[in-house]
Amino acid sequence: MNKEKLLQSIGFYLLDMDGTLYLGDQLYPFTKELLKTFRETGRKYLFLTNNSSKSTEDYVKKLAKFGITATAEDFQTSAQATAFYLQKYHPGKCLYLCGTESFKKELESQGFEVTQDLSKVQCVVMGYDTELNYQKLIDVSKLLLGNPELPYIATNPDLVCPTEFGSVPDCGSVCQMIFNATGRKPEVIGKPGPLMAQLAMEKWGYTKEQTAMVGDRIYTDVKSGLNAGITGILVMSGETTPEILANSPDKPHLVLQDASEILGAIRGNPFHK
Ligand SMILES: [Mg+2]
Repeated sequence: MNKEKLLQSIGFYLLDMDGTLYLGDQLYPFTKELLKTFRETGRKYLFLTNNSSKSTEDYVKKLAKFGITATAEDFQTSAQATAFYLQKYHPGKCLYLCGTESFKKELESQGFEVTQDLSKVQCVVMGYDTELNYQKLIDVSKLLLGNPELPYIATNPDLVCPTEFGSVPDCGSVCQMIFNATGRKPEVIGKPGPLMAQLAMEKWGYTKEQTAMVGDRIYTDVKSGLNAGITGILVMSGETTPEILANSPDKPHLVLQDASEILGAIRGNPFHK
């Protein structure tokens, strides 16, 4: 299948944000038109992010600054995917959360009890916790050491998160600290694992053949697509250089200069589910 035909055959686009739709505070010129065209041609898109420190409301506000109208329904954060995963595999369990207040609200809004009473905890959830303190690390270590069978879930494997001045430790780094103390490794939900894409397909009712993951990182975005058995599309508008691409063991199904190539292919080509 040629590039255009492949892009036209996709009805469900999972989109990375930074490096794909915008770069930092700079919106790409094609982004608004692309999102509009997805809708006009009967295609569904979801913004996928590994960041579990922000709630969807925070992202809705961020996109609104670019003049993009989005609702909570347009997003899947690793926090949401984790909540969906917990609903499915650990329904009704009492949770200990190492995560932000907004993640806590997300879990509570889905009916989970989040507790600091360690005797009640049935599952430990680790997020990108920008409100982390040492007591939480002690609590998590105590829980995991006290019960080797206790389910332990992490939202995302990223070691660092980019900021204006460089990087700060992300969820994966804290999980390494916990591993050093307890020998326990979490089940990880976010990219490059397949779960976010799989949960999205299940939730919105699309097949693997109808779904693509689009992003600017091979080792997280594209790889999560490959791991989920869907089309993995790399855009060269962000982090990946031709050199990184040439040396990567993971090969995208498609490499695009930027996501405007999707716009060019789908414009005037409706998708029928
Ligand atoms: Mg990106």
